[in-house]
Amino acid sequence: MNVSELARILGITPQELRDDLPPFGFSIGQKAIKINRNVANKIIKEWPTLKKKIAYRKAEEEKKKQAEIEEKKKLINKKIEIPSLITVRDFVQISGIPLNTVLSELMKNGIFASLNEKIDFDTAWLIGNELGMEIKLKKGENEEEKNDNRLKDILEKEEDKNMISRPPVIVIMGHVDHGKTKLLDAIRKTNVVAGEAGGITQHIGAYQVQRKNQTITFIDTPGHEAFTAMRSRGAKIADIAILVVAADDGVKPQTVEAFRIIEAAQIPYIVAINKIDKEGANIDKVKQELSSQLKIIPEDWGGNIICSPISALKNEGIDELLDMVLLTTESMENNIKANPKSLAVGTIIESHVDKGSGPVATILIQNGTLKFDDQLTLNGISIGKVRKLKNYLGKEIKEAGPASPVQIIGLKFMPKVGDLIQVGSGEKINYKKMKALSKRKESGAVQQNSEQDENVKKINLIIKSDVLGSAEAIEESLEKINTEEVKIKIIRKGLGNINENDIKRAIDADGEIIGFNVKTPPEIKTMARENNIEIKNYSIIYDLINDIKEKIISLTDTKKEKVEIGKLEVLAIFRNEKNGQILGGKVIEGAIEIDSQIEIFKENEFMGDGKLIKLQAGKQDVKIVEKGEECGIQFKGQPVAETGYILKFSKEKEIK
Ligand code: GDP
Repeated sequence: MNVSELARILGITPQELRDDLPPFGFSIGQKAIKINRNVANKIIKEWPTLKKKIAYRKAEEEKKKQAEIEEKKKLINKKIEIPSLITVRDFVQISGIPLNTVLSELMKNGIFASLNEKIDFDTAWLIGNELGMEIKLKKGENEEEKNDNRLKDILEKEEDKNMISRPPVIVIMGHVDHGKTKLLDAIRKTNVVAGEAGGITQHIGAYQVQRKNQTITFIDTPGHEAFTAMRSRGAKIADIAILVVAADDGVKPQTVEAFRIIEAAQIPYIVAINKIDKEGANIDKVKQELSSQLKIIPEDWGGNIICSPISALKNEGIDELLDMVLLTTESMENNIKANPKSLAVGTIIESHVDKGSGPVATILIQNGTLKFDDQLTLNGISIGKVRKLKNYLGKEIKEAGPASPVQIIGLKFMPKVGDLIQVGSGEKINYKKMKALSKRKESGAVQQNSEQDENVKKINLIIKSDVLGSAEAIEESLEKINTEEVKIKIIRKGLGNINENDIKRAIDADGEIIGFNVKTPPEIKTMARENNIEIKNYSIIYDLINDIKEKIISLTDTKKEKVEIGKLEVLAIFRNEKNGQILGGKVIEGAIEIDSQIEIFKENEFMGDGKLIKLQAGKQDVKIVEKGEECGIQFKGQPVAETGYILKFSKEKEIK
């Protein structure tokens, strides 16, 4: 018997017959046309009960589906906290996400995990996020807090007798254009290790100088990255801060911001009053502003804050400033110690991807000595071995002791600025796979671009702003307009005017630069133009966001969607052709336009379709006929229309 014949007898479609009967012992085969007559007879005989069984089964399936949807709905907005590494089993238990979902999500990303295998926070976050959950890192597991605690624990465990003096680590902060870079350059030029002066110095995020036979480490992460990193790390990387204030400009918003950060970090600081060579320089006025606005009372005004007048440009007062740094160091002798014999631990102060070497990071060693071939870990996870160590002079070295900045090559994974790195054996995670999932939030560091999802378009942004507050506001607003198809990625956030480093980063990451209340010096504009890098400056967040929105729209693929434009009632058939019809009618809804698609309905029943190729009103060819008007139409398609039928007209429109 034909399957279709049996279906007709049973009053169902052949496909329903093929789909619904197998669970009850009648497998018909998805492509079967014929069915054994005996089997068919049996089905017919049992049909009254079978029918009920099928209906019941369908209802049950529907119920199950609904329950799953309900289960998923419960997960939306559910808030959980998890540690930075969690076994699949624990994650399932804490999150309430069904095991199958977790495993299939992992599998989708190429991770075949067993119940006892650990996944990292980012991976778990991503799975939960897909389902609308809010997943946070457990308190105390927060990277920054944890870093601080871990370092503190390590140092506290060291015996006093093993702790010896190490170089102090200095950070320079202050308002944009007040001369931080110039000061760092001036210090470097005049004091870099004898014999090496004039040699190639690399910007690796920090350098060291000698003064009175003592070494001092300066953090010089380009483009005020230090500022951001410092803030998130509570300025704990540095022992002493130098707050630069221009003598001709006084206390400005970032001066205040920098001071608040220093204050929160509870580290000693020195004020460097810069640009004293400039006409209009007024040291007393600066001191007055410092004391009235920030309650910073200079020593010579009866307070206890050292204020060093300098000119970074003319190299004046630099040695004296360094002497003040040494003096401050002496006064805090007990705090500036480390055990060089321990396994190294340190904080990432700069990281980027080098096309040849892969992830390259500068670590500031905070305790112990880092050696060639050491195994490195981040949050207990193994992230590679030290394959090469380079100092700030670009020289390859075999080991680096406390307070030295070193560049490491050999990492399998790119750490972020602020990450605490330890030597030791860590848990091995397949980072290659993890990276596909990893969505680590970053501050100041460019992440590896190689494994990006090919289908997702990205807008890579470098944001430079006047104060951190605005950068954060911008970031928040941008997050809100992020879409699945086009992702906005902030590859670097920084303070101050747009500089060469920003351009370099933009080139590396194929990004564009956004300035907010900052300037672009002419030479940087030229450099950007030459390298085809777009720089846009704003002073209103709203404008910035709107521009990015437009950009997202322009990058979004258009979807074609059918839009119904009008309806016509057929009043007369003039001619039936083999492949079309000419007829007359009245537009009863909307308007009809030439080149639209036609669907033919007899009352509500679909009868056929076609395409409008000619439209006439009063014997004139027209492009559009509106509601209430009569017209003649010729269409190509099935000639099934009759008087009284309704023709629905639609057009395909591009929708973003
Ligand atoms: P930053 O934004 O704080 O890093 O400031 P820069 O170091 O880039 O300096 C900003 C501008 O001020 C540059 O044009 C410098 O040449 C200039 N500048 C820095 N220090 C001095 C100084 O001591 N005297 C004078 N006259 N100009 C300076």
